[in-house]
Amino acid sequence: MGRIPSNLALKRRGVAIINTSCPQCHLENEDTEHILIRCPVASNVWDLIFKWCNIPKPQFQTVGELIGFVKTWGIRRRRRNNLICVCFGVMWILWKTRCDGVLKNKRTSPPLVKSTKAKH
Ligand SMILES: [Zn+2]
Repeated sequence: MGRIPSNLALKRRGVAIINTSCPQCHLENEDTEHILIRCPVASNVWDLIFKWCNIPKPQFQTVGELIGFVKTWGIRRRRRNNLICVCFGVMWILWKTRCDGVLKNKRTSPPLVKSTKAKH
């Protein structure tokens, strides 16, 4: 963790970042866990994704906890592998959505992020 160039990670690397708060919600410093898990935008997307997968949403606060859940979920390996792919795809879309907001000033909503994932 910490390799994603979030505002907090960039500041720790010596980049002149004035504001390290999340550009989407402004509630916390922006780090990897916030972007992918704790941000209300991400949390709403995870709600929709687990509902879409017809799986009760587990409690997780970190990427490690999410991965730990999906790596042991269910009894069918193929379905588990599909869920793992979905989760990594969602994390990629969350990161891309964050970057589109910061770099291209694009705004989105959790249902739109979820529909982006469903198309791929
Ligand atoms: Zn946020």
